[in-house]
Amino acid sequence: MAQQETDQQAEQQVNDGFVVDTEDCEEREEAHRARGTARPITVVGNPVLHKECKDVTEFGPELAQLIDDMFASQKAAEGVGLAANQIGVDLKVFVYDCPDDDGARHTGVVCNPVLEELPADSRRLDDGNEGCLSVPTAYAELARPDYAVVHGQDAEGNPIKVRGRGYFARCLQHETDHLHGYLYIDRLSKRDRKDALRQMEEGTPRYETVPNA
Ligand SMILES: [Zn+2]
Repeated sequence: MAQQETDQQAEQQVNDGFVVDTEDCEEREEAHRARGTARPITVVGNPVLHKECKDVTEFGPELAQLIDDMFASQKAAEGVGLAANQIGVDLKVFVYDCPDDDGARHTGVVCNPVLEELPADSRRLDDGNEGCLSVPTAYAELARPDYAVVHGQDAEGNPIKVRGRGYFARCLQHETDHLHGYLYIDRLSKRDRKDALRQMEEGTPRYETVPNA
């Protein structure tokens, strides 16, 4: 019964300012990356990944080109989400093309993302495996809330809200973290972080990366 009420509330919120990011995903994703150029991915240790990015203030053609390049880079690296600092750009933008636990595909872009604080009683932790293009070939279990709401702006500067459950909720939190200077390995225990870095050292990424100085 309680679950049902929660679902109904969530249903109403769809009509309350949340972007519809599950329609025409294929076409939108393809159009972006057709206009974009894939760029190499920055990896842990590159300073651009370890500080808060600058707010987006100009919503013009340069931003549109960046977003296209980000979709192209995300596809080339086979990612489900990509933050601008992962291609070396110090701006608060992320793109995503990510399935949720119900198999629905979500595709979109968020500028200046802020995670909504969830009430403690609605926080359910989900123990899932997480990886990051900037920590190539490494994976670790990380508990995160299984529901997330992100506030931000679209490519034109209009205010938007995006919400996700399960794996997509994980993606929204992971990408927002990036733009605030945090990698998922920063949320791991010392031991798990070390293990992830060891996995990275032993593996070879299947995409081009930016060598660290
Ligand atoms: Zn990442």
